[in-house]
Amino acid sequence: PVRVRFCPSPTGNPHVGLIRTALFNWAYARHNKGSLVFRIEDTDAARDSEESYQQLLDSFHWLGFDWDEGPEVGGPHAPYRQSQRMDIYKDVADKLLAAGHAYHCYCTTEELDARREAARQAGRPSGYDGTCRELTAEQKAAYEAEGRTSIVRFRMPDEPITFTDLVRGELTFTPENVPDYGIVRANGAPLYTLVNPIDDALMRITHVLRGEDLLSSTPRQIALYKALIELGVAKEIPAFGHLPYVMGEGNKKLSKRDPQASLNLYRDRGFLPEGLLNYLALLGWSFSADQDIFSVSELIEKFDIADVNANPARFDLKKAEAINADHIRQLDVKDFIAACEPWLKPPHANWAPEDFDQAAWEAIAPHAQTRLTVLSDITANVDFLFLKEPVEDEASWTKAMKGDPAALLTTARAKLADADWTSPESLKEAVLAAGEEHGLKLGKAQAPVRVAVTGRTVGLPLFESLEVLGKERTLQRIDAALA
Ligand code: GLU
Repeated sequence: PVRVRFCPSPTGNPHVGLIRTALFNWAYARHNKGSLVFRIEDTDAARDSEESYQQLLDSFHWLGFDWDEGPEVGGPHAPYRQSQRMDIYKDVADKLLAAGHAYHCYCTTEELDARREAARQAGRPSGYDGTCRELTAEQKAAYEAEGRTSIVRFRMPDEPITFTDLVRGELTFTPENVPDYGIVRANGAPLYTLVNPIDDALMRITHVLRGEDLLSSTPRQIALYKALIELGVAKEIPAFGHLPYVMGEGNKKLSKRDPQASLNLYRDRGFLPEGLLNYLALLGWSFSADQDIFSVSELIEKFDIADVNANPARFDLKKAEAINADHIRQLDVKDFIAACEPWLKPPHANWAPEDFDQAAWEAIAPHAQTRLTVLSDITANVDFLFLKEPVEDEASWTKAMKGDPAALLTTARAKLADADWTSPESLKEAVLAAGEEHGLKLGKAQAPVRVAVTGRTVGLPLFESLEVLGKERTLQRIDAALA
């Protein structure tokens, strides 16, 4: 059975790269009726935070991810937080040392830097040069007497490592490019390079799907895996698939620190989870040649790692918004109404809570649903219904009230007063007729009416808006604009 994992480190805010990786793992697990293991890689006390861990859980819940083993649900390989598994890593590190797969390295940072620089200048590979590979007991004792501390270094095999990446095909790494590497710090803290494959082995992970930035650690992990198999810790080497980089502005790699990379941004702007997941799935994968809007269940039904593209994917905010708009339009009206709710309350709402009118909101909602790209836009689109007076938007006012709109507004007011308020058509005819009297087309004639009533030059369809606002309040607002 397929067993995949997502194993973020709780540092900072969740970002879109991490979510894309989680999504592909989740979709792969669900497509194959396998298991998804959620593990927290919190061995770096200096960078990890509890707040970030909570944010990860919260984000995954919001996105609708579920997992078969991990925080909140437990499982046969618990605990799923690496900070609670330190004894395991210590034990395996000791076994690796005893079997000669790892050794103590006493080189100081200064020595390593100097030798690396010399190698570079001589045009030789600049990775670890093996100085401490074969130390005798006397040499070690002498170093220790000097007061030197040691890290634990993994001994890489002297032959090339080849594996078939699920996305990139066959890859070969030569020993010069993959030198011996540190697995335990001088203070005894185990490193990512050690703990990640140990847990993948113990948790019986079958497929490692992760970002391309980790490709260079894969030959090391494969070598470590072979040692773990020999020690009876691992059973077999998992398959690896590296997901393409995501490029942001200026064709540069999207960095975690990029504001566009933050998941919270999308959540706060009112992306629907389904809309965002739809978009993120397209970063390196495609649903079909002629369809890029799909539901999460369609994604799961179709997802295969073999279809992931190795080329860098381009992050395109406009496209993300367009896809989200599509998902908004597909909601049942009642779900749309419910989804907007947070944006109709403080701190978003700019009206007094007691002035909110549920019936008016439900009447205007269908007209808003077809026009929003993100849910947070709802507030400004409907505030004219709930504010005592429309917002004062200087720029809109100047733009729509150019020339002398008083004559037009006076005529429009008179015609609206006589119109049939049970149909937006009749309201439209009233404004159209007022425009005709002043030699104005509908567009020009409706602009001052819109600004007088809603405060803005752009908004929901005007005549439906007037109908919902009602005759009395509409006429009052036109009077106020004329005053
Ligand atoms: N904790 C690692 C990270 O956040 C996981 C990498 C992996 O998937 O192997 O980058």
